[in-house]
Amino acid sequence: MNIIPYSCQDINQADIDAVVAVLHSDCLTQGHVVPAFEEAVALYCGAKYAVAVNSATSALHIACLALGVGPGDIVWTTPITFVATANCAIYCGATVDFVDIDPRTYNLSVDRLAEKLAVAARVGQLPKVVIPVHLSGQPCDMVGIHALSQQYGFKIIEDASHAISGKYQGAPIGNGRYADITVFSFHPVKIITSGEGCMALTNDVALAIRLRLLRSHGISSTPEDIQPRPAQEIWNYQQIALGFNYRMTDIHAALGLSQMRRLDEFLIQRHTIAQRYNQLLSELPITTPWQHPDSYSAYHLYVIRLQLSSKSKTQRQVYEALRAAGILANLHYIPVYRQPYYEQMGFAAGYCPEAEQYYAQAISIPLYPGLTTEQQDYVVRTLREAIEA
Ligand SMILES: *Cc1c(COP(=O)(O)O)cnc(C)c1O
Repeated sequence: MNIIPYSCQDINQADIDAVVAVLHSDCLTQGHVVPAFEEAVALYCGAKYAVAVNSATSALHIACLALGVGPGDIVWTTPITFVATANCAIYCGATVDFVDIDPRTYNLSVDRLAEKLAVAARVGQLPKVVIPVHLSGQPCDMVGIHALSQQYGFKIIEDASHAISGKYQGAPIGNGRYADITVFSFHPVKIITSGEGCMALTNDVALAIRLRLLRSHGISSTPEDIQPRPAQEIWNYQQIALGFNYRMTDIHAALGLSQMRRLDEFLIQRHTIAQRYNQLLSELPITTPWQHPDSYSAYHLYVIRLQLSSKSKTQRQVYEALRAAGILANLHYIPVYRQPYYEQMGFAAGYCPEAEQYYAQAISIPLYPGLTTEQQDYVVRTLREAIEA
């Protein structure tokens, strides 16, 4: 049986050659390829600074730290995301809370955010940072979130792990117009890959310097950071903060840089496949992904919502019928606060009703550039049979 995953990487000979060239060079890490990759992504997105990091999880961690998140602080995000978006705050000793989603886009709802902020302001529990996630590659209502950040004084980290090449109001996601820091993931299931890896973007030079410092042990070589030391002692580097080894290698950067050259082609392929699904699924009792007119999705995921009734097949039955046919459908995501680790903190089922309703109906079906028309037809046929059987 042919296995069709929900997503997978697309590697060509140019990608392989780029990686092999680094293996033949002097520097496997901390050479010139990471800076070249950083420059390419900054240029593509229209951001001033790009900092390559070894994963989006690491980048979310140091982004929180760079924005001053620590014990006693509060970070808010959406429940419909990968756990890393919430975990980053916990790494910093902060607490996490969740804002329910918009039932059309499945992104963090600006109306729910506004209501929750009004309550939090009254009791002195405002978040220091809010992390909107551009689910499936469709941007959040960033104008709305940004306006609230001005009113209530919180910072914004965009988790754009799904969203490189997407656009918001005609401009590339990552340009920093409405966020302090944006992170893209380059895990193999995402839009482009570097094996593992991430780019953190910002327009703020102080944040860029802080991110670079925290990425590499908190060690600085900038002359203004260097503190005077006794002349007879040898000091060839100085650690001035508590950082990590979150660096990207040149091997990973070479793959990422090569994939950047293919990004626009991937985007067109993703949109072509998504549009074909929209047509082929229009007759089924399914809600296809609604697109806000301000957004041009990167289409990392194609999430359908089953219109369930007492007579219909259950979500679980449809999911299992797809898996049994070799179609590795998935669920993005289980509401984060329903995870046992978060339930221990006191979160309970029903906390975000829209997120729970979404969770009970959503299934991600295969979408990636290498998906053939025949495979797509097979997915649609299997799905129809699973729903109608
Ligand atoms: C994949 C993903 C991450 C984590 O990315 P890594 O690069 O694997 O650490 C974080 N947030 C979201 C929304 C993701 O999809």
